[in-house]
Amino acid sequence: MAYRVRFVNPAKNYRMIKDEIDAAYFDVVSNGELIDRRHLRRFEENLAKFVGTKYAVGLNSGYDALHMSLRAAGIGPGDEVIVPAHTFVATCSAVVNVGAKPVLVDVAKDFNINCDLIEEAISSRTRAIIPVHLSGWMADMPRVMDIAQRHNLVVVEDACQSLGSSINGKRAGSWGLTGCWSFYPFKILGGYGDGGAITTDDPDVALFARRMRYNGEDRETGEYHGHGFTCLLDNLQAAFLDVKLRHLPAWIVRRKQIAERYREALSDLPDLLLPHYDRPGFDHVYQNYTVRSKQGNEFSEYLKANGVEVLTQFRKPYYRHEALRLVDRGFPETEALSREVCSLPMNVELDDEEVDYVIEVVRSFYLER
Ligand SMILES: *Cc1c(COP(=O)(O)O)cnc(C)c1O
Repeated sequence: MAYRVRFVNPAKNYRMIKDEIDAAYFDVVSNGELIDRRHLRRFEENLAKFVGTKYAVGLNSGYDALHMSLRAAGIGPGDEVIVPAHTFVATCSAVVNVGAKPVLVDVAKDFNINCDLIEEAISSRTRAIIPVHLSGWMADMPRVMDIAQRHNLVVVEDACQSLGSSINGKRAGSWGLTGCWSFYPFKILGGYGDGGAITTDDPDVALFARRMRYNGEDRETGEYHGHGFTCLLDNLQAAFLDVKLRHLPAWIVRRKQIAERYREALSDLPDLLLPHYDRPGFDHVYQNYTVRSKQGNEFSEYLKANGVEVLTQFRKPYYRHEALRLVDRGFPETEALSREVCSLPMNVELDDEEVDYVIEVVRSFYLER
């Protein structure tokens, strides 16, 4: 069916910045600058500046950013890595694919790793922890860093959903050994295809990633420094992303306005939990506006049937997918929220009338009951 309000609208987003995107495209293709050229370097510089790290290294996906980070930290067979039970599966697959064992930890009411449960999951084999900043809201990084320091663990931030977010002014992706970024089209900074990056203050990690993304080769000397990968961020995508990065601060302001509009109109509904946590110093950039409805599928299906496109990530937790062979240690919060999650349309393409229509449909669902 044709949705009246779309979850995202990439064609409309393009029309909003068409002149700049078109200029970037012609600049790249008319000069034949396809691989590892000035657009990539400029985007890396601007991304590092935005996040507040010394380096950014462009890769071809968020998954590769996680995978590269674990490799850079020397994590492999025999090691355990702590990951949240509620996240996109790539967080966990990166751990499995370097040969290490993921140890899952339940999340808290804010959808991020429950810091009270981390220490009981640490063993003598634990080497790292991957906090995920879900939906634009950061995990409790002061606590994660404190636990990591006391147990001598590497911290890799899965910041794929939280570019621009911060705690006490310190941005996501600047706390751990690396911050991992995805520029998948529907992320807060999305390209026109896959893309990713790491940010880091560690020169050795940055150098490692620069070589390994290019089959281990040092591009100046031709020397191979290890068996690497092909996972470079395209120069063309970098040019597009650099345009969009300039708009990001204003787009975050717009996302916060939409979130406030939802909050004002929906916070009286007792069966609906809204994603507002009001923790001093914590900044929410609303990559997603994920509510919890006691009515679960009934709620999300009603919205869809009435022309509102919503996402229900994830009804089936990733550790319940049999082929992944993961250990379910019992994650009651993840189980509960999986039944209830529903992400409402949240993007800068929305106009106020569309937001009001979503509000109207949500309210009518609860009025009809
Ligand atoms: C999108 C995402 C990833 C993976 O990013 P890709 O670019 O699709 O590989 C990893 N973790 C989280 C939390 C994500 O949202």
